[in-house]
Amino acid sequence: MTWKSQLADSVVTPEQLAERFGIDPEPLRAVAARYPLRITPHYLGLIETPGDPIWRQCVPDLRELAIDDLPEDSLNESSFSPVPALVHRYPDRALLLVSGQCAGYCRFCTRKNRVGTRAMAFSAAQIDAGLDYIASTPGIRDVILTGGDPLLLDDPRLTEILTRLQSIAHVEMVRIGSRVPVTLPQRITPQLCRLLARFQPLYLNTHFNHPRELVDASIAACARLADAGIPLGNQTVLMRGVNDDPEVMITLCRGLLKARVRPYYLHHLDQARGTAHFRVPVERGLEIIAAMRGRVSGLGIPQYVVDPPGGQGKVPLLPENLLQVGETLKVRTAGGMVELPNRTPLRDVSSA
Ligand SMILES: *Cc1c(COP(=O)(O)O)cnc(C)c1O
Ligand code: SF4
Repeated sequence: MTWKSQLADSVVTPEQLAERFGIDPEPLRAVAARYPLRITPHYLGLIETPGDPIWRQCVPDLRELAIDDLPEDSLNESSFSPVPALVHRYPDRALLLVSGQCAGYCRFCTRKNRVGTRAMAFSAAQIDAGLDYIASTPGIRDVILTGGDPLLLDDPRLTEILTRLQSIAHVEMVRIGSRVPVTLPQRITPQLCRLLARFQPLYLNTHFNHPRELVDASIAACARLADAGIPLGNQTVLMRGVNDDPEVMITLCRGLLKARVRPYYLHHLDQARGTAHFRVPVERGLEIIAAMRGRVSGLGIPQYVVDPPGGQGKVPLLPENLLQVGETLKVRTAGGMVELPNRTPLRDVSSA
């Protein structure tokens, strides 16, 4: 089956979930109407029981609609967007949002308010404007293709964008952020790997969150990329009931190293509306990292980071940077002190 037919076979309605798992679709309708639902046949097949760590990441949950006082644009990306499809927050790096679609819509996504909706369906002209901005900004050395998922573009469109970037002398490297190796491994075709190999140096950061996602098809997809000479990294989001456990994280990171994927970041959950039920206190994240030291190769220990609201950029969460931990968190950063909520009181939680 081709990746496009796999994608077309995805679950996109609560009724399809009800049919498969015998659950009541009614409560999920409002959630799926607010935030898009898509689960590929591959990812659906990883669910063992309702409520398990795979399920939690992809099945709509009523708590997404809880009134949580969290902002929609938690990272204040709009103030760093000189043109709509581009985020330029660090002088030397820029994000280009080349695709508004993902192979699966993650319930914990920071950009859940926009992915899979018209708000992120940028036109070719808007992406060109982003490319023009990069071309006219000599400080940008590193371009990160993101979205949405860049690997949902077809090969010709991906080639066009990468060719344009390659023609810009000051762009020294390109990174692609993609969850496709996890959710739609069929997309990593030999042809795609040959295409990407033409645009070195090109790094791919993928997004495994749980060891049960490291199944044969995904490991093989990573192997094809690594064999093509694409260095692979992984960004994990720390989430309650998914991977907030040292043993789970150790198994995940060991598995990633075996698959030739270097654990890069462990992200503390962003303060985005509709994700509060995934929140883990920072103390737990620090405990998990501490438990990994001595039990996982240093190469396999990700950097635990937080992206505080306001948009000053990612800050490493190290015990020595934390001035106060509790209801709020005070973190020492290069740009001064940052304060952020560490627990999110949920009002109006209508399901457990
Ligand atoms: C995370 C991020 C980057 C890349 O940061 P690295 O730490 O270099 O991986 C670039 N731009 C923005 C806006 C980001 O959020
Ligand atoms: S694949 Fe990435 S961008 Fe898409 S929904 Fe998941 S976390 Fe968000």
